Amino acid sequence: MGYNKELFADVRRQMETRRQTAIETADARRWELYAALPEVEEIDRELSRTGLIIMDEIAKGKEGLTERLENIRLDNLDLQAQREKVMRRAGYPVDYDAPKFACPDCKDTGYVGQKMCGCLKAALSEEGMRRAGLAHLFETQRFDTFVLDYYRQDPRVYRLMQKYWEMCRDFAKRFDGNTRENLLLCGATGLGKTHLSTAIAGEVVQKGYDVLYESAPNLLSAYEAERFGRSLTASVADTSRYLTCDLLIIDDLGAELSNNFTVGVLYNLINTRIVSRKPTIISTNLTSDEIRARYTDRIASRLFGEYTIMRFEGRDIRMQKIGMN
Ligand SMILES: [Zn+2]
Repeated sequence: MGYNKELFADVRRQMETRRQTAIETADARRWELYAALPEVEEIDRELSRTGLIIMDEIAKGKEGLTERLENIRLDNLDLQAQREKVMRRAGYPVDYDAPKFACPDCKDTGYVGQKMCGCLKAALSEEGMRRAGLAHLFETQRFDTFVLDYYRQDPRVYRLMQKYWEMCRDFAKRFDGNTRENLLLCGATGLGKTHLSTAIAGEVVQKGYDVLYESAPNLLSAYEAERFGRSLTASVADTSRYLTCDLLIIDDLGAELSNNFTVGVLYNLINTRIVSRKPTIISTNLTSDEIRARYTDRIASRLFGEYTIMRFEGRDIRMQKIGMN
Protein backbone atom coordinates (compact mmCIF):
# COMPACT_ATOMS: atom_id res chain seq x y z
CA MET A 1 0.00 0.00 0.00
CA GLY A 2 1.53 3.27 -1.07
CA TYR A 3 -0.23 6.48 -0.23
CA ASN A 4 -0.35 9.06 -2.95
CA LYS A 5 2.56 11.39 -2.15
CA GLU A 6 0.79 14.67 -2.65
CA LEU A 7 -2.22 13.60 -0.63
CA PHE A 8 -0.01 12.29 2.14
CA ALA A 9 2.02 15.50 2.27
CA ASP A 10 -1.18 17.60 2.35
CA VAL A 11 -2.69 15.63 5.21
CA ARG A 12 0.54 15.66 7.21
CA ARG A 13 0.79 19.41 6.70
CA GLN A 14 -2.78 19.91 7.92
CA MET A 15 -2.08 17.81 11.01
CA GLU A 16 1.16 19.64 11.75
CA THR A 17 -0.64 22.98 11.48
CA ARG A 18 -3.32 21.73 13.85
CA ARG A 19 -0.67 20.50 16.27
CA GLN A 20 1.21 23.80 16.16
CA THR A 21 -2.00 25.74 16.74
CA ALA A 22 -2.78 23.59 19.78
CA ILE A 23 0.72 24.20 21.16
CA GLU A 24 0.65 27.94 20.46
CA THR A 25 -2.79 28.30 22.01
CA ALA A 26 -1.55 26.48 25.10
CA ASP A 27 1.54 28.72 25.29
CA ALA A 28 -0.57 31.86 25.05
CA ARG A 29 -2.81 30.57 27.82
CA ARG A 30 0.21 29.81 29.98
CA TRP A 31 1.48 33.38 29.71
CA GLU A 32 -2.00 34.60 30.56
CA LEU A 33 -1.98 32.27 33.56
CA TYR A 34 1.43 33.50 34.73
CA ALA A 35 0.22 37.09 34.55
CA ALA A 36 -2.83 36.27 36.63
CA LEU A 37 -1.17 33.78 38.99
CA PRO A 38 2.58 34.40 39.51
CA GLU A 39 2.58 31.45 41.88
CA VAL A 40 1.99 29.10 38.98
CA GLU A 41 4.98 30.54 37.14
CA GLU A 42 7.10 29.99 40.24
CA ILE A 43 5.95 26.34 40.46
CA ASP A 44 6.65 25.79 36.76
CA ARG A 45 10.14 27.18 37.19
CA GLU A 46 10.79 24.65 39.92
CA LEU A 47 9.28 21.84 37.86
CA SER A 48 11.49 22.72 34.91
CA ARG A 49 14.56 22.18 37.08
CA THR A 50 13.65 18.52 37.65
CA GLY A 51 15.90 17.24 34.88
CA LEU A 52 18.95 19.03 36.25
CA ILE A 53 18.23 17.88 39.78
CA ILE A 54 18.02 14.27 38.59
CA MET A 55 21.37 14.61 36.80
CA ASP A 56 22.95 16.10 39.92
CA GLU A 57 21.71 13.22 42.03
CA ILE A 58 23.04 10.67 39.53
CA ALA A 59 26.40 12.44 39.52
CA LYS A 60 26.58 12.08 43.31
CA GLY A 61 26.92 8.32 42.90
CA LYS A 62 24.85 5.17 43.12
CA GLU A 63 24.50 5.08 46.85
CA GLY A 64 20.91 5.65 47.90
CA LEU A 65 20.11 6.76 44.35
CA THR A 66 16.78 4.94 44.13
CA GLU A 67 15.60 6.63 47.28
CA ARG A 68 16.84 10.05 46.20
CA LEU A 69 15.12 9.71 42.82
CA GLU A 70 11.91 8.62 44.53
CA ASN A 71 12.05 11.76 46.67
CA ILE A 72 12.40 13.88 43.56
CA ARG A 73 9.41 12.14 42.06
CA LEU A 74 7.34 12.82 45.17
CA ASP A 75 8.44 16.48 45.25
CA ASN A 76 7.37 16.70 41.66
CA LEU A 77 3.93 15.29 42.35
CA ASP A 78 3.63 17.72 45.24
CA LEU A 79 4.41 20.68 43.01
CA GLN A 80 1.90 19.51 40.43
CA ALA A 81 -0.80 19.12 43.07
CA GLN A 82 0.04 22.60 44.36
CA ARG A 83 -0.23 24.00 40.84
CA GLU A 84 -3.63 22.44 40.37
CA LYS A 85 -4.82 23.74 43.70
CA VAL A 86 -3.77 27.31 42.89
CA MET A 87 -5.48 27.12 39.52
CA ARG A 88 -8.66 25.63 40.87
CA ARG A 89 -8.88 28.26 43.57
CA ALA A 90 -8.64 30.95 40.90
CA GLY A 91 -11.39 29.28 38.87
CA TYR A 92 -9.23 27.78 36.08
CA PRO A 93 -9.65 24.23 34.83
CA VAL A 94 -6.46 22.33 35.69
CA ASP A 95 -5.73 21.59 32.02
CA TYR A 96 -6.24 25.24 31.05
CA ASP A 97 -2.78 25.63 29.52
CA ALA A 98 -2.34 22.04 28.29
CA PRO A 99 -2.33 21.68 24.48
CA LYS A 100 -5.73 20.43 23.28
CA PHE A 101 -4.76 17.89 20.64
CA ALA A 102 -7.50 16.51 18.39
CA CYS A 103 -6.06 13.02 18.95
CA PRO A 104 -4.77 12.30 22.46
CA ASP A 105 -3.24 9.01 21.27
CA CYS A 106 -0.59 10.56 19.03
CA LYS A 107 -0.86 14.22 20.12
CA ASP A 108 -1.56 15.03 16.47
CA THR A 109 1.81 13.74 15.28
CA GLY A 110 0.11 10.97 13.28
CA TYR A 111 2.31 8.29 14.80
CA VAL A 112 2.34 6.24 17.96
CA GLY A 113 5.91 5.01 18.10
CA GLN A 114 6.68 3.69 14.63
CA LYS A 115 3.04 2.93 13.86
CA MET A 116 0.70 5.14 11.91
CA CYS A 117 -2.07 6.34 14.22
CA GLY A 118 -5.71 5.59 13.40
CA CYS A 119 -6.43 9.32 13.17
CA LEU A 120 -3.88 9.73 10.37
CA LYS A 121 -5.35 6.79 8.45
CA ALA A 122 -8.84 8.23 8.84
CA ALA A 123 -7.66 11.68 7.76
CA LEU A 124 -5.98 10.19 4.68
CA SER A 125 -9.19 8.38 3.73
CA GLU A 126 -11.30 11.42 4.29
CA GLU A 127 -9.04 13.67 2.27
CA GLY A 128 -8.78 11.00 -0.42
CA MET A 129 -12.56 10.87 -0.66
CA ARG A 130 -12.78 14.63 -0.79
CA ARG A 131 -10.18 14.75 -3.56
CA ALA A 132 -11.98 11.95 -5.36
CA GLY A 133 -15.10 14.10 -5.27
CA LEU A 134 -16.96 11.69 -3.01
CA ALA A 135 -17.11 13.27 0.41
CA HIS A 136 -20.77 12.47 1.07
CA LEU A 137 -21.67 9.57 -1.20
CA PHE A 138 -19.16 7.33 0.48
CA GLU A 139 -21.15 7.38 3.71
CA THR A 140 -24.04 5.49 2.16
CA GLN A 141 -22.78 3.91 -1.03
CA ARG A 142 -20.64 1.01 0.11
CA PHE A 143 -20.59 -2.66 -0.85
CA ASP A 144 -22.31 -3.63 2.40
CA THR A 145 -25.16 -1.19 1.81
CA PHE A 146 -25.96 -2.45 -1.69
CA VAL A 147 -29.36 -4.13 -1.41
CA LEU A 148 -29.53 -7.13 -3.71
CA ASP A 149 -33.09 -7.87 -2.56
CA TYR A 150 -34.16 -5.13 -4.89
CA TYR A 151 -33.47 -7.54 -7.78
CA ARG A 152 -35.07 -10.60 -6.26
CA GLN A 153 -38.26 -10.57 -8.32
CA ASP A 154 -36.36 -12.13 -11.21
CA PRO A 155 -33.95 -14.95 -10.24
CA ARG A 156 -31.87 -14.49 -13.39
CA VAL A 157 -31.46 -10.76 -12.77
CA TYR A 158 -30.73 -11.46 -9.12
CA ARG A 159 -27.90 -13.85 -10.02
CA LEU A 160 -26.56 -11.38 -12.55
CA MET A 161 -26.55 -8.51 -10.10
CA GLN A 162 -24.96 -10.69 -7.47
CA LYS A 163 -22.23 -11.51 -9.96
CA TYR A 164 -21.66 -7.82 -10.75
CA TRP A 165 -21.57 -6.95 -7.06
CA GLU A 166 -18.88 -9.61 -6.59
CA MET A 167 -16.93 -8.48 -9.66
CA CYS A 168 -16.91 -4.89 -8.44
CA ARG A 169 -15.97 -5.87 -4.90
CA ASP A 170 -13.16 -8.11 -6.21
CA PHE A 171 -11.94 -5.31 -8.45
CA ALA A 172 -11.70 -3.04 -5.38
CA LYS A 173 -10.13 -5.74 -3.21
CA ARG A 174 -7.51 -6.69 -5.77
CA PHE A 175 -6.75 -3.12 -6.80
CA ASP A 176 -3.07 -2.26 -6.65
CA GLY A 177 -0.46 -0.52 -8.77
CA ASN A 178 -0.59 -3.43 -11.23
CA THR A 179 -4.33 -3.38 -11.89
CA ARG A 180 -4.96 -3.08 -15.63
CA GLU A 181 -8.65 -3.92 -15.81
CA ASN A 182 -11.21 -1.35 -16.93
CA LEU A 183 -14.94 -1.56 -16.26
CA LEU A 184 -17.88 -0.38 -18.32
CA LEU A 185 -21.10 -0.32 -16.30
CA CYS A 186 -24.10 -0.05 -18.62
CA GLY A 187 -27.78 0.13 -17.90
CA ALA A 188 -30.65 2.42 -17.06
CA THR A 189 -30.65 4.87 -14.18
CA GLY A 190 -31.49 3.55 -10.75
CA LEU A 191 -30.00 0.08 -11.10
CA GLY A 192 -26.99 0.57 -8.87
CA LYS A 193 -24.20 1.58 -11.25
CA THR A 194 -23.32 4.68 -9.27
CA HIS A 195 -23.62 2.84 -5.99
CA LEU A 196 -21.15 0.13 -7.03
CA SER A 197 -18.68 2.50 -8.66
CA THR A 198 -18.75 4.71 -5.56
CA ALA A 199 -18.17 1.64 -3.39
CA ILE A 200 -15.13 0.75 -5.51
CA ALA A 201 -13.82 4.32 -5.23
CA GLY A 202 -14.23 4.21 -1.45
CA GLU A 203 -12.26 1.01 -1.02
CA VAL A 204 -9.49 2.02 -3.40
CA VAL A 205 -9.15 5.41 -1.67
CA GLN A 206 -8.85 3.58 1.66
CA LYS A 207 -5.90 1.73 0.22
CA GLY A 208 -4.24 5.07 -0.34
CA TYR A 209 -4.54 5.40 -4.12
CA ASP A 210 -5.34 8.59 -5.95
CA VAL A 211 -8.90 8.15 -7.17
CA LEU A 212 -10.90 10.66 -9.13
CA TYR A 213 -14.65 10.35 -9.52
CA GLU A 214 -16.26 12.74 -11.95
CA SER A 215 -19.45 12.97 -13.96
CA ALA A 216 -18.90 13.08 -17.71
CA PRO A 217 -20.45 16.58 -18.01
CA ASN A 218 -18.11 17.98 -15.33
CA LEU A 219 -15.09 16.23 -16.73
CA LEU A 220 -15.66 17.47 -20.25
CA SER A 221 -16.52 21.01 -19.21
CA ALA A 222 -13.23 21.12 -17.32
CA TYR A 223 -11.45 20.35 -20.60
CA GLU A 224 -13.57 22.91 -22.45
CA ALA A 225 -12.82 25.54 -19.83
CA GLU A 226 -9.13 24.80 -20.19
CA ARG A 227 -9.21 24.78 -23.97
CA PHE A 228 -11.51 27.73 -24.59
CA GLY A 229 -10.57 29.74 -21.53
CA ARG A 230 -14.05 29.88 -20.06
CA SER A 231 -14.23 31.34 -16.59
CA LEU A 232 -12.26 29.00 -14.45
CA THR A 233 -13.81 28.53 -11.07
CA ALA A 234 -12.33 26.72 -8.14
CA SER A 235 -14.61 23.79 -8.83
CA VAL A 236 -13.09 23.13 -12.22
CA ALA A 237 -10.64 20.31 -11.82
CA ASP A 238 -7.10 20.34 -13.06
CA THR A 239 -7.46 18.12 -16.13
CA SER A 240 -3.98 16.63 -15.83
CA ARG A 241 -5.19 14.54 -12.90
CA TYR A 242 -7.71 12.78 -15.17
CA LEU A 243 -4.76 11.31 -17.02
CA THR A 244 -2.50 10.60 -14.09
CA CYS A 245 -4.75 9.45 -11.21
CA ASP A 246 -4.51 5.78 -10.21
CA LEU A 247 -8.19 5.16 -10.84
CA LEU A 248 -10.52 7.38 -12.85
CA ILE A 249 -14.28 6.89 -12.59
CA ILE A 250 -16.40 8.65 -15.18
CA ASP A 251 -20.01 8.65 -14.14
CA ASP A 252 -22.95 9.02 -16.51
CA LEU A 253 -21.18 9.06 -19.85
CA GLY A 254 -23.71 10.36 -22.37
CA ALA A 255 -25.20 13.02 -20.09
CA GLU A 256 -22.79 15.63 -21.46
CA LEU A 257 -23.36 17.85 -24.47
CA SER A 258 -21.13 16.16 -26.98
CA ASN A 259 -19.38 17.72 -29.94
CA ASN A 260 -16.23 17.07 -31.95
CA PHE A 261 -14.10 18.57 -29.23
CA THR A 262 -15.53 16.47 -26.39
CA VAL A 263 -15.41 13.30 -28.48
CA GLY A 264 -11.75 14.00 -29.24
CA VAL A 265 -10.99 14.62 -25.57
CA LEU A 266 -12.75 11.45 -24.55
CA TYR A 267 -10.89 9.32 -27.06
CA ASN A 268 -7.59 10.80 -25.98
CA LEU A 269 -8.39 10.25 -22.31
CA ILE A 270 -9.60 6.65 -22.72
CA ASN A 271 -6.76 5.75 -25.05
CA THR A 272 -4.00 7.42 -23.02
CA ARG A 273 -5.13 5.67 -19.85
CA ILE A 274 -5.18 2.30 -21.64
CA VAL A 275 -1.71 2.89 -23.09
CA SER A 276 -0.32 4.08 -19.75
CA ARG A 277 -2.02 1.13 -18.06
CA LYS A 278 -4.14 3.14 -15.69
CA PRO A 279 -7.54 1.65 -14.93
CA THR A 280 -10.76 3.51 -15.68
CA ILE A 281 -14.37 2.80 -14.78
CA ILE A 282 -17.13 4.28 -16.91
CA SER A 283 -20.84 4.12 -16.23
CA THR A 284 -23.39 4.99 -18.87
CA ASN A 285 -27.09 4.79 -19.64
CA LEU A 286 -26.31 4.48 -23.35
CA THR A 287 -26.72 1.27 -25.36
CA SER A 288 -23.85 -0.05 -27.44
CA ASP A 289 -25.47 1.29 -30.61
CA GLU A 290 -25.87 4.67 -29.00
CA ILE A 291 -22.23 4.64 -27.92
CA ARG A 292 -21.12 3.85 -31.50
CA ALA A 293 -23.36 6.51 -33.00
CA ARG A 294 -22.34 9.16 -30.54
CA TYR A 295 -18.64 8.56 -30.02
CA THR A 296 -17.39 7.05 -33.28
CA ASP A 297 -16.09 3.52 -33.79
CA ARG A 298 -12.69 4.47 -32.45
CA ILE A 299 -14.04 5.02 -28.95
CA ALA A 300 -16.54 2.17 -29.19
CA SER A 301 -13.84 -0.30 -30.16
CA ARG A 302 -11.67 0.84 -27.25
CA LEU A 303 -14.55 0.44 -24.81
CA PHE A 304 -15.80 -2.92 -26.11
CA GLY A 305 -12.29 -4.26 -26.67
CA GLU A 306 -10.51 -3.13 -23.51
CA TYR A 307 -13.24 -2.86 -20.87
CA THR A 308 -15.02 -5.57 -18.90
CA ILE A 309 -18.66 -4.89 -19.68
CA MET A 310 -21.40 -5.24 -17.10
CA ARG A 311 -24.95 -4.83 -18.27
CA PHE A 312 -27.08 -3.86 -15.29
CA GLU A 313 -30.64 -5.06 -15.39
CA GLY A 314 -33.70 -4.69 -13.28
CA ARG A 315 -37.31 -3.77 -13.33
CA ASP A 316 -36.77 -0.64 -15.34
CA ILE A 317 -38.35 -1.12 -18.77
CA ARG A 318 -35.54 0.82 -20.41
CA MET A 319 -33.36 -2.22 -19.78
CA GLN A 320 -35.26 -4.13 -22.46
CA LYS A 321 -33.78 -1.78 -25.03
CA ILE A 322 -30.15 -2.27 -24.13
CA GLY A 323 -29.23 -5.47 -25.94
CA MET A 324 -25.49 -4.89 -25.73
CA ASN A 325 -23.21 -7.63 -26.84
ZN1 LIG B 1 -3.72 10.09 16.35
